[in-house]
Amino acid sequence: MEKVKNQREAISKLDHNFEWIACEICGSEEHHLVATRTDRFLGGNTLFCMHECENCATVYQFPRPKQAKMGDYYPPEYQQYTKDLSEEKWYKRLSRIYGLRKRTRIITKYLSGGTVLDVGCATGDFLSVMKDVPGWNGIGIEPSHTALKYAKEKARLSVVEGGLNGAPFAKHSFEAITMWDVLEHVYDPRQVLIEVARLLKPNGIFVVNHPNLDSIDRRLFGNLWLGYELPRHLYLFPGELLKKLMAELGFEEVERNCLYGSHAATFSSVMFYIEERLQSPKICGLFRKVLFSFVSRIFFLPYFKLIDYLNLGSNITAVFIKKTS
Ligand SMILES: [Zn+2]
Repeated sequence: MEKVKNQREAISKLDHNFEWIACEICGSEEHHLVATRTDRFLGGNTLFCMHECENCATVYQFPRPKQAKMGDYYPPEYQQYTKDLSEEKWYKRLSRIYGLRKRTRIITKYLSGGTVLDVGCATGDFLSVMKDVPGWNGIGIEPSHTALKYAKEKARLSVVEGGLNGAPFAKHSFEAITMWDVLEHVYDPRQVLIEVARLLKPNGIFVVNHPNLDSIDRRLFGNLWLGYELPRHLYLFPGELLKKLMAELGFEEVERNCLYGSHAATFSSVMFYIEERLQSPKICGLFRKVLFSFVSRIFFLPYFKLIDYLNLGSNITAVFIKKTS
């Protein structure tokens, strides 16, 4: 029975829900397989794949679900949409707010005020903290209706529905644009970056947090690294490539570091590893409780401080300043 349950199925070329694409960044069709796994969030037997472009080293999903079908992989209970801070345990709430304040500080470090556009704002937790920073206003853009409804009604934020390309914003509308764990989800990252360049004012800043291809976790966990997040992650960028792409658009990278989330990301990968090996939901639940506990956070703090210092955490944040108009 278990054998049948674990049977994995490669995507057939005859499956019209998927598309076989070239690298959107450089157009090359040369690539090799770097990771393959089933959907760890929704389950199922379909085996999704990540390939690395032989030309520019971008890692991208191949084949990938067609855009019209992708909504099926983002159900209303998708974790980014459901976490309500007020319902979290006190230490999780504190840790989350601490992380969100770090995000706001990276902006106020460079600019004293203005309007920030948070792309893929989900339920708006970053904007909720940002709106309390003196001198700043915030606008969100979010494709999920469920998340957007929460952000507008419960968090009382200004949020536009949809994706960045085609959004109703004039040129040079914003002092800052943020993408927290979003760029890896978009179908057309190059076009999104071009739109960022259009919307930012000169000397404005673009802050992007994305999976770190140089992370220790990627090497340790391989297929089970959280950063692959198949099939919702479509493109993963080497830090140097993103720097080059942004330079072509008139941006200078001024900072790149592991800003937040290393503990949670690493132990999510650990849980994937444990779940692969243990069939008992009860024992897995126990591991989850221990690994994400307050004690675990304190115990592993020195390790994650070191990993973040070395820029080897599971996620990396880059800050770019727009130098030209
Ligand atoms: Zn490429």
